[in-house]
Amino acid sequence: MSEIIVIGSGVIGLSAALDLQAAGFQPRILTRDLPQATTSVAAGAMWSASDLDGRLRRWAEVSLRRFLPLAEAPVSGVTLQRMREVYAQPVPDPWYRDLLPFFARVPARHMPPHMQDGYLMDLPMVAPPLYLSKLQAEFLGNGGSIETRAVASLSELSDEAALLVNCSGVGARELADDAEVYPIRGQTILLESHDIAQGYMDNAAVDHIFPRGDGVLVGGIKVAGDWNRQLDPAVSADIISRVAKIEPSLGRAKALRQFVGLRPGRAEVRLEAERLSESCAVIHNYGHAAIGYTLSWGCAAEVAALARNLL
Ligand SMILES: Cc1cc2nc3c(=O)[nH]c(=O)nc-3n(C[C@H](O)[C@H](O)[C@H](O)COP(=O)(O)OP(=O)(O)OC[C@H]3O[C@@H](n4cnc5c(N)ncnc54)[C@H](O)[C@@H]3O)c2cc1C
Repeated sequence: MSEIIVIGSGVIGLSAALDLQAAGFQPRILTRDLPQATTSVAAGAMWSASDLDGRLRRWAEVSLRRFLPLAEAPVSGVTLQRMREVYAQPVPDPWYRDLLPFFARVPARHMPPHMQDGYLMDLPMVAPPLYLSKLQAEFLGNGGSIETRAVASLSELSDEAALLVNCSGVGARELADDAEVYPIRGQTILLESHDIAQGYMDNAAVDHIFPRGDGVLVGGIKVAGDWNRQLDPAVSADIISRVAKIEPSLGRAKALRQFVGLRPGRAEVRLEAERLSESCAVIHNYGHAAIGYTLSWGCAAEVAALARNLL
Protein backbone atom coordinates (compact mmCIF):
# COMPACT_ATOMS: atom_id res chain seq x y z
CA MET A 1 0.00 0.00 0.00
CA SER A 2 1.37 3.40 -0.98
CA GLU A 3 1.04 6.08 1.67
CA ILE A 4 -0.26 8.86 -0.63
CA ILE A 5 -2.00 8.82 -4.02
CA VAL A 6 -2.42 12.09 -5.91
CA ILE A 7 -5.28 11.97 -8.43
CA GLY A 8 -4.63 14.18 -11.47
CA SER A 9 -1.54 15.43 -13.27
CA GLY A 10 -2.52 18.98 -14.23
CA VAL A 11 -0.64 21.89 -12.70
CA ILE A 12 -2.46 21.42 -9.38
CA GLY A 13 -1.69 17.69 -9.04
CA LEU A 14 1.95 17.98 -10.17
CA SER A 15 2.68 20.94 -7.87
CA ALA A 16 1.08 19.18 -4.89
CA ALA A 17 2.97 15.96 -5.65
CA LEU A 18 6.28 17.84 -5.78
CA ASP A 19 5.65 19.63 -2.47
CA LEU A 20 4.68 16.30 -0.89
CA GLN A 21 8.03 14.89 -2.06
CA ALA A 22 9.80 17.96 -0.64
CA ALA A 23 8.05 17.24 2.68
CA GLY A 24 9.54 13.72 2.71
CA PHE A 25 6.58 11.71 1.37
CA GLN A 26 6.68 9.37 -1.64
CA PRO A 27 3.36 9.98 -3.41
CA ARG A 28 2.35 8.31 -6.64
CA ILE A 29 0.06 9.87 -9.24
CA LEU A 30 -2.97 8.24 -10.84
CA THR A 31 -4.42 10.21 -13.72
CA ARG A 32 -6.89 9.76 -16.52
CA ASP A 33 -4.92 12.14 -18.78
CA LEU A 34 -1.19 12.80 -18.79
CA PRO A 35 -0.07 16.44 -18.30
CA GLN A 36 0.06 17.30 -22.00
CA ALA A 37 -3.62 16.37 -22.42
CA THR A 38 -5.02 18.32 -19.45
CA THR A 39 -6.76 21.69 -19.19
CA SER A 40 -3.53 22.96 -17.68
CA VAL A 41 -1.68 22.65 -21.01
CA ALA A 42 -4.23 24.96 -22.70
CA ALA A 43 -3.67 27.82 -20.26
CA GLY A 44 -2.07 31.23 -20.90
CA ALA A 45 -0.54 31.07 -18.32
CA MET A 46 0.19 34.23 -16.44
CA TRP A 47 0.41 34.87 -12.71
CA SER A 48 -2.75 36.97 -12.36
CA ALA A 49 -3.97 38.02 -8.93
CA SER A 50 -5.66 41.39 -9.20
CA ASP A 51 -8.95 40.75 -7.40
CA LEU A 52 -7.84 38.28 -4.75
CA ASP A 53 -8.09 38.48 -0.99
CA GLY A 54 -7.99 36.18 2.05
CA ARG A 55 -6.47 32.75 1.53
CA LEU A 56 -6.44 33.18 -2.28
CA ARG A 57 -4.13 36.18 -1.88
CA ARG A 58 -1.90 34.19 0.47
CA TRP A 59 -1.69 31.26 -2.00
CA ALA A 60 -1.00 33.61 -4.91
CA GLU A 61 1.84 35.26 -3.02
CA VAL A 62 3.46 31.88 -2.25
CA SER A 63 3.27 31.05 -5.98
CA LEU A 64 4.71 34.41 -7.00
CA ARG A 65 7.69 33.87 -4.71
CA ARG A 66 8.25 30.45 -6.35
CA PHE A 67 7.83 31.70 -9.94
CA LEU A 68 10.11 34.77 -9.75
CA PRO A 69 13.36 32.80 -9.23
CA LEU A 70 12.22 30.21 -11.85
CA ALA A 71 11.91 33.07 -14.36
CA GLU A 72 15.67 33.59 -14.12
CA ALA A 73 16.19 30.28 -15.99
CA PRO A 74 14.17 30.10 -19.26
CA VAL A 75 14.50 26.27 -19.38
CA SER A 76 12.06 26.23 -16.45
CA GLY A 77 9.21 27.21 -18.79
CA VAL A 78 8.71 30.45 -16.82
CA THR A 79 9.77 33.90 -18.03
CA LEU A 80 9.27 37.41 -16.74
CA GLN A 81 7.00 39.32 -19.13
CA ARG A 82 6.17 43.03 -19.40
CA MET A 83 2.34 43.14 -19.41
CA ARG A 84 -0.20 45.86 -20.02
CA GLU A 85 -3.40 45.15 -18.04
CA VAL A 86 -6.20 47.59 -18.82
CA TYR A 87 -9.52 48.39 -17.15
CA ALA A 88 -12.76 50.06 -18.23
CA GLN A 89 -12.87 51.96 -14.91
CA PRO A 90 -10.32 53.61 -12.59
CA VAL A 91 -8.52 51.08 -10.35
CA PRO A 92 -6.31 51.45 -7.26
CA ASP A 93 -2.78 50.03 -7.16
CA PRO A 94 -2.94 46.24 -6.79
CA TRP A 95 -2.05 44.62 -3.43
CA TYR A 96 1.05 42.96 -4.93
CA ARG A 97 2.55 46.11 -6.43
CA ASP A 98 5.67 46.08 -4.23
CA LEU A 99 6.28 42.35 -4.75
CA LEU A 100 6.91 42.81 -8.49
CA PRO A 101 10.25 43.68 -10.08
CA PHE A 102 8.54 46.42 -12.14
CA PHE A 103 5.23 48.29 -11.79
CA ALA A 104 3.90 51.52 -13.37
CA ARG A 105 0.61 52.99 -14.59
CA VAL A 106 -0.28 52.73 -18.29
CA PRO A 107 0.19 56.23 -19.78
CA ALA A 108 -3.07 57.67 -21.19
CA ARG A 109 -1.64 57.69 -24.74
CA HIS A 110 -1.24 53.88 -24.61
CA MET A 111 -4.80 53.22 -23.42
CA PRO A 112 -6.99 51.35 -25.95
CA PRO A 113 -10.46 52.77 -26.79
CA HIS A 114 -13.10 52.25 -24.05
CA MET A 115 -10.43 51.64 -21.39
CA GLN A 116 -9.71 54.14 -18.63
CA ASP A 117 -6.93 52.82 -16.43
CA GLY A 118 -4.28 50.14 -16.28
CA TYR A 119 -1.00 48.74 -15.06
CA LEU A 120 2.32 48.02 -16.72
CA MET A 121 3.95 45.14 -14.86
CA ASP A 122 6.63 42.49 -15.11
CA LEU A 123 4.82 39.24 -14.30
CA PRO A 124 5.74 35.56 -14.36
CA MET A 125 4.51 33.96 -17.59
CA VAL A 126 4.36 30.16 -17.84
CA ALA A 127 4.64 28.21 -21.12
CA PRO A 128 2.59 25.19 -19.95
CA PRO A 129 3.81 22.57 -22.49
CA LEU A 130 7.41 23.07 -21.30
CA TYR A 131 6.62 23.84 -17.66
CA LEU A 132 4.40 20.79 -17.13
CA SER A 133 7.07 18.56 -18.74
CA LYS A 134 9.62 19.98 -16.31
CA LEU A 135 7.36 19.37 -13.30
CA GLN A 136 6.63 15.84 -14.51
CA ALA A 137 10.34 15.10 -15.07
CA GLU A 138 11.22 16.48 -11.63
CA PHE A 139 8.54 14.34 -9.97
CA LEU A 140 9.73 11.19 -11.77
CA GLY A 141 13.39 12.10 -11.14
CA ASN A 142 12.64 12.25 -7.40
CA GLY A 143 11.43 8.64 -7.57
CA GLY A 144 7.71 9.30 -8.19
CA SER A 145 5.53 7.24 -10.54
CA ILE A 146 2.61 8.18 -12.78
CA GLU A 147 -0.02 5.62 -13.75
CA THR A 148 -2.64 6.35 -16.39
CA ARG A 149 -5.90 5.26 -14.84
CA ALA A 150 -9.39 6.74 -14.64
CA VAL A 151 -10.66 6.56 -11.08
CA ALA A 152 -14.39 5.88 -10.87
CA SER A 153 -14.81 6.75 -7.18
CA LEU A 154 -12.61 7.78 -4.25
CA SER A 155 -13.70 4.73 -2.25
CA GLU A 156 -12.19 2.55 -5.01
CA LEU A 157 -8.76 3.70 -3.70
CA SER A 158 -9.41 3.62 0.04
CA ASP A 159 -7.56 0.29 0.47
CA GLU A 160 -4.64 1.44 -1.70
CA ALA A 161 -3.44 4.47 0.31
CA ALA A 162 -3.71 6.17 3.67
CA LEU A 163 -4.19 9.54 2.00
CA LEU A 164 -5.68 10.60 -1.35
CA VAL A 165 -5.11 14.07 -2.77
CA ASN A 166 -7.92 14.89 -5.14
CA CYS A 167 -6.59 17.23 -7.86
CA SER A 168 -9.04 16.19 -10.55
CA GLY A 169 -10.02 19.66 -11.82
CA VAL A 170 -13.41 19.66 -13.49
CA GLY A 171 -13.44 15.86 -13.04
CA ALA A 172 -14.19 16.52 -9.34
CA ARG A 173 -17.81 17.09 -10.26
CA GLU A 174 -18.14 13.30 -10.55
CA LEU A 175 -15.24 12.07 -8.46
CA ALA A 176 -16.15 14.12 -5.38
CA ASP A 177 -19.85 14.12 -6.27
CA ASP A 178 -19.72 17.92 -6.12
CA ALA A 179 -22.49 19.57 -8.14
CA GLU A 180 -20.88 22.99 -7.49
CA VAL A 181 -18.12 22.17 -10.01
CA TYR A 182 -18.76 23.29 -13.58
CA PRO A 183 -16.65 23.78 -16.74
CA ILE A 184 -15.65 27.20 -18.04
CA ARG A 185 -14.61 26.45 -21.59
CA GLY A 186 -11.53 28.20 -22.98
CA GLN A 187 -9.87 28.19 -26.38
CA THR A 188 -6.39 29.54 -27.18
CA ILE A 189 -4.01 29.71 -30.15
CA LEU A 190 -0.21 29.62 -30.03
CA LEU A 191 1.12 31.87 -32.81
CA GLU A 192 4.57 31.88 -34.35
CA SER A 193 5.68 35.40 -33.53
CA HIS A 194 8.63 36.84 -31.70
CA ASP A 195 7.92 40.51 -32.47
CA ILE A 196 5.62 41.32 -29.57
CA ALA A 197 7.58 42.82 -26.69
CA GLN A 198 4.65 43.69 -24.45
CA GLY A 199 1.78 41.41 -23.43
CA TYR A 200 -1.83 42.60 -23.14
CA MET A 201 -4.84 41.65 -21.07
CA ASP A 202 -8.20 43.35 -20.55
CA ASN A 203 -9.87 43.49 -17.16
CA ALA A 204 -12.24 40.65 -17.96
CA ALA A 205 -9.19 38.52 -18.90
CA VAL A 206 -10.93 37.54 -22.14
CA ASP A 207 -8.80 39.26 -24.80
CA HIS A 208 -5.21 38.40 -24.05
CA ILE A 209 -1.85 38.40 -25.82
CA PHE A 210 0.84 36.51 -23.92
CA PRO A 211 4.37 36.53 -25.42
CA ARG A 212 6.05 33.33 -24.14
CA GLY A 213 9.20 31.35 -24.78
CA ASP A 214 7.39 29.17 -27.33
CA GLY A 215 5.53 31.89 -29.31
CA VAL A 216 2.64 34.21 -28.56
CA LEU A 217 -0.43 32.69 -26.92
CA VAL A 218 -3.67 34.50 -27.75
CA GLY A 219 -7.21 34.11 -26.48
CA GLY A 220 -9.77 33.73 -25.60
CA ILE A 221 -13.20 32.83 -24.41
CA LYS A 222 -14.89 31.90 -21.14
CA VAL A 223 -18.07 29.87 -21.65
CA ALA A 224 -19.57 28.62 -18.39
CA GLY A 225 -21.32 25.25 -18.54
CA ASP A 226 -19.86 24.18 -21.91
CA TRP A 227 -18.31 20.66 -21.81
CA ASN A 228 -17.23 20.65 -25.49
CA ARG A 229 -13.54 19.73 -25.79
CA GLN A 230 -13.49 20.05 -29.61
CA LEU A 231 -11.85 23.05 -31.29
CA ASP A 232 -14.31 25.48 -32.82
CA PRO A 233 -12.72 27.10 -35.93
CA ALA A 234 -15.19 30.02 -35.83
CA VAL A 235 -14.03 30.85 -32.29
CA SER A 236 -10.38 30.74 -33.40
CA ALA A 237 -11.11 33.11 -36.31
CA ASP A 238 -12.89 35.50 -33.96
CA ILE A 239 -9.98 35.44 -31.47
CA ILE A 240 -7.48 36.25 -34.24
CA SER A 241 -9.59 39.14 -35.53
CA ARG A 242 -9.93 40.57 -32.01
CA VAL A 243 -6.24 40.39 -31.10
CA ALA A 244 -5.23 41.73 -34.54
CA LYS A 245 -7.08 44.93 -33.66
CA ILE A 246 -4.67 45.31 -30.73
CA GLU A 247 -1.49 43.95 -32.43
CA PRO A 248 -2.02 43.94 -36.25
CA SER A 249 0.97 41.64 -36.98
CA LEU A 250 -0.80 38.81 -35.13
CA GLY A 251 -3.43 38.71 -37.88
CA ARG A 252 -0.74 37.36 -40.26
CA ALA A 253 1.12 35.06 -37.84
CA LYS A 254 1.16 31.29 -38.39
CA ALA A 255 -0.83 29.18 -35.90
CA LEU A 256 1.49 26.60 -34.31
CA ARG A 257 -1.03 24.90 -32.05
CA GLN A 258 -4.57 25.35 -30.80
CA PHE A 259 -5.97 24.33 -27.45
CA VAL A 260 -9.28 23.76 -25.71
CA GLY A 261 -9.43 23.59 -21.91
CA LEU A 262 -12.22 23.29 -19.36
CA ARG A 263 -11.37 25.53 -16.41
CA PRO A 264 -12.64 23.94 -13.19
CA GLY A 265 -15.24 26.50 -12.08
CA ARG A 266 -16.59 26.60 -8.52
CA ALA A 267 -17.85 29.42 -6.27
CA GLU A 268 -14.67 28.87 -4.21
CA VAL A 269 -11.62 26.64 -4.32
CA ARG A 270 -12.12 23.47 -2.30
CA LEU A 271 -8.96 22.79 -0.30
CA GLU A 272 -9.79 20.76 2.80
CA ALA A 273 -9.39 17.32 4.32
CA GLU A 274 -12.14 14.76 4.74
CA ARG A 275 -12.09 11.26 6.26
CA LEU A 276 -13.16 8.53 3.80
CA SER A 277 -12.78 5.58 6.19
CA GLU A 278 -10.90 4.74 9.39
CA SER A 279 -7.70 4.10 7.44
CA CYS A 280 -8.02 6.58 4.57
CA ALA A 281 -8.42 10.37 4.33
CA VAL A 282 -8.70 12.65 1.32
CA ILE A 283 -7.43 16.19 0.77
CA HIS A 284 -9.56 17.88 -1.88
CA ASN A 285 -7.68 20.43 -3.99
CA TYR A 286 -9.83 21.55 -6.92
CA GLY A 287 -12.00 24.36 -8.29
CA HIS A 288 -9.21 26.81 -9.22
CA ALA A 289 -11.21 28.17 -12.18
CA ALA A 290 -9.17 30.71 -14.22
CA ILE A 291 -6.23 31.06 -11.81
CA GLY A 292 -4.85 27.57 -11.25
CA TYR A 293 -1.25 28.55 -12.06
CA THR A 294 -1.52 31.64 -9.87
CA LEU A 295 -2.62 29.54 -6.88
CA SER A 296 -0.69 26.35 -7.64
CA TRP A 297 2.30 26.60 -5.24
CA GLY A 298 0.31 28.13 -2.39
CA CYS A 299 -2.20 25.27 -2.58
CA ALA A 300 0.61 22.72 -2.89
CA ALA A 301 2.23 24.04 0.30
CA GLU A 302 -1.10 23.80 2.10
CA VAL A 303 -1.62 20.21 0.90
CA ALA A 304 1.82 19.26 2.27
CA ALA A 305 1.03 20.91 5.63
CA LEU A 306 -2.33 19.09 5.86
CA ALA A 307 -0.64 15.78 4.93
CA ARG A 308 1.90 16.21 7.75
CA ASN A 309 -0.98 16.63 10.22
CA LEU A 310 -2.95 13.70 8.88
CA LEU A 311 -0.20 11.06 8.60
C1 LIG B 1 -7.69 29.07 -21.95
C2 LIG B 1 -7.21 29.07 -20.52
C3 LIG B 1 -6.37 30.07 -20.07
C4 LIG B 1 -5.94 30.09 -18.74
N1 LIG B 1 -5.08 31.05 -18.33
C5 LIG B 1 -4.62 31.05 -17.05
C6 LIG B 1 -3.69 32.03 -16.62
O1 LIG B 1 -3.26 32.89 -17.38
N2 LIG B 1 -3.26 31.99 -15.32
C7 LIG B 1 -3.71 31.05 -14.43
O2 LIG B 1 -3.30 31.08 -13.27
N3 LIG B 1 -4.60 30.09 -14.83
C8 LIG B 1 -5.07 30.08 -16.10
N4 LIG B 1 -5.99 29.15 -16.51
C9 LIG B 1 -6.59 28.26 -15.49
C10 LIG B 1 -5.76 27.03 -15.23
O3 LIG B 1 -5.34 26.47 -16.42
C11 LIG B 1 -6.59 26.02 -14.42
O4 LIG B 1 -7.06 26.63 -13.24
C12 LIG B 1 -5.73 24.81 -14.08
O5 LIG B 1 -5.18 24.26 -15.24
C13 LIG B 1 -6.51 23.76 -13.32
O6 LIG B 1 -5.58 22.73 -13.08
P1 LIG B 1 -6.02 21.34 -12.51
O7 LIG B 1 -4.77 20.56 -12.32
O8 LIG B 1 -6.94 21.52 -11.35
O9 LIG B 1 -6.95 20.70 -13.66
P2 LIG B 1 -6.56 19.93 -14.99
O10 LIG B 1 -5.43 20.54 -15.69
O11 LIG B 1 -7.86 19.77 -15.72
O12 LIG B 1 -6.09 18.52 -14.47
C14 LIG B 1 -7.00 17.61 -13.89
C15 LIG B 1 -6.36 16.25 -13.85
O13 LIG B 1 -7.23 15.34 -13.19
C16 LIG B 1 -7.36 14.16 -13.97
N5 LIG B 1 -8.65 13.55 -13.68
C17 LIG B 1 -9.87 14.10 -13.74
N6 LIG B 1 -10.80 13.20 -13.40
C18 LIG B 1 -10.15 12.04 -13.13
C19 LIG B 1 -10.54 10.73 -12.73
N7 LIG B 1 -11.85 10.41 -12.53
N8 LIG B 1 -9.59 9.77 -12.54
C20 LIG B 1 -8.28 10.06 -12.74
N9 LIG B 1 -7.86 11.29 -13.13
C21 LIG B 1 -8.78 12.26 -13.31
C22 LIG B 1 -7.23 14.67 -15.40
O14 LIG B 1 -6.92 13.58 -16.27
C23 LIG B 1 -6.08 15.66 -15.23
O15 LIG B 1 -4.85 14.98 -15.24
C24 LIG B 1 -6.40 29.09 -17.84
C25 LIG B 1 -7.23 28.06 -18.31
C26 LIG B 1 -7.63 28.04 -19.64
C27 LIG B 1 -8.48 26.91 -20.12
